[in-house]
Amino acid sequence: MPCKACPAACSCEDEAVTSKIAKPAPRAYEAVLQSIEAELRSGALKLGDQLPGERTLAEKHGLSRASVRDAIRILDVLGVVRTSTGSGPNAGAVIISQPASGLAAALRLHVATRQLTVGEIVQTRILLETGAAEAATVDPEDEATRAKLDEAAGLLELMDDPELARADFHALDARFHVLLSSLAGNAVIEAMMESLRLSISDYVAESIRSDEAWEPVADVLRTQHHGILAAVSAGEGKRASQLLREHIEWFYAETQR
Ligand SMILES: [Zn+2]
Repeated sequence: MPCKACPAACSCEDEAVTSKIAKPAPRAYEAVLQSIEAELRSGALKLGDQLPGERTLAEKHGLSRASVRDAIRILDVLGVVRTSTGSGPNAGAVIISQPASGLAAALRLHVATRQLTVGEIVQTRILLETGAAEAATVDPEDEATRAKLDEAAGLLELMDDPELARADFHALDARFHVLLSSLAGNAVIEAMMESLRLSISDYVAESIRSDEAWEPVADVLRTQHHGILAAVSAGEGKRASQLLREHIEWFYAETQR
């Protein structure tokens, strides 16, 4: 019998070789995931479409309804479908695209296991944010750009309030950075930054323990944020990129003291 790795005419019959290259049997739900992926690629399924019901999918793939349910749950966690409970015409899973939600959940958990380090998150932020700042073409006449710059200014205003709770500051700070990155108009950078958002606010929140130590740090961060937004608004991408790098590296160095 020819081995699985070779053309049909081969004479390799060494069982040890074939068992080494044998892949583990695919899990039952993977057939459903592969089929939905293929239909998305071909355009047979598109955003807003409703998936067939559990029973139909189970019959189509020769699987149990429990396996189909596993597949739908995975797609839900990955941000590819939205499920709703109940019956009626709007029940069932609808195709959506929220790439950041699946990535964010996975990144956060892997940071929690300490297999992804804060140092690596920081380095990734620098790459994404400085790259986005340099790639952004900021046209203040453009309505969408104007709205984002106004929103960013509004976030800084909220962070300037000395009474603002620390947790709120960290959340707004992370949003400010995601928003600036979105000016590059690159959906992949935006999704990756959005997925890093919670990991960023986690490490920022956890790294400075006392409120006394936080106050002077917050003052520096406020000043840096205003400088960054001024450079972005003026269309000075290189300068914005440099200021972002200094801002992220300065804070990280503070947390390592
Ligand atoms: Zn910041």
